[in-house]
Amino acid sequence: MSTLDTYIEYFSALRRAPGPVWSAATQNRAPHKPILLLAVLDLVARGVITSPVFDVTGDLVELNDLFTGYWRRIVPLAQTSSIAFPFSRLHNEPFWKLIPVPGKEITQAVINNVSSVNQLRRISSGARLDEALYYLMIQPENRNALREILLRSCFSEQARLDLADQAAINGEAYIYSQKLFNKAHQPKVEEVFGQYRASARDQGFRRLIVRTYDHRCALCGVRIITPEGHTVVDAAHIVPWSTSQNDDARNGMALCKLCHWNFDKGLLGISNSYNVIVSRKISANANVPGFLVTLADRGAILPLDHDLWPAQEYLALHRQEWQL
Ligand SMILES: [Zn+2]
Repeated sequence: MSTLDTYIEYFSALRRAPGPVWSAATQNRAPHKPILLLAVLDLVARGVITSPVFDVTGDLVELNDLFTGYWRRIVPLAQTSSIAFPFSRLHNEPFWKLIPVPGKEITQAVINNVSSVNQLRRISSGARLDEALYYLMIQPENRNALREILLRSCFSEQARLDLADQAAINGEAYIYSQKLFNKAHQPKVEEVFGQYRASARDQGFRRLIVRTYDHRCALCGVRIITPEGHTVVDAAHIVPWSTSQNDDARNGMALCKLCHWNFDKGLLGISNSYNVIVSRKISANANVPGFLVTLADRGAILPLDHDLWPAQEYLALHRQEWQL
């Protein structure tokens, strides 16, 4: 039996708990493990996972985004899951071993207790994949074969199509984020970005902007990433997509939810010397939290890579629109 056949057999025989909450889409069994493995295959394809050791001590935003993207395609909205759930249970498969933190022992009882990333990190710093499996994953053809077997052996025909579509979107989104990154290092030319699928565009733009700003809000400087991999920032357009169809990285900034809303409503802006502008409408409103007013004239927090700074021509259009 070839190495690929061995892992195809393992992947097609994943132990998944049956239960009445799981629909025919997931063959009436828990879908966590195959969905996490689909996300892991994407991270290998993107060059984010570069060794058989998968560390969980850093930020898990991209893993969680990919996991959630697949999950939402086939699981009802009300049902959610932490990535820690399958990450820990995969230890019971022959190819995935949790690495214990010093002084801890990985037992079945310990694994059964894990339902959040915080709990996972208390016992483990990550997982070690079989080296032979990792080398299959880095080869596009073998990676596709592994993805295919997960889809075929764990899901209904419709769910399989939906998840294959999501995998294609994730692939396009990654290519799109690379394209936007390269483009930002060249002179601006007018370009219609609308030929890409909206879901790939959204994900690709967000990936680039959020990473470029390292999850920090350009206006107020807040940076919060939860252990589960949720980040406080959005990828905001300076001139809205609806009017500009412009995903140039220089038309984007990472903004926290509050600053994003205020920027979109014209209550906050950025000056021609990259300082924060606070609208008079905010200062005059007694209900506005005081700290927003204190942002006035502070320097915006911009990426290290100067080429990715917001373009003054877009910031000027925003100021003009809202008379800032
Ligand atoms: Zn903010």
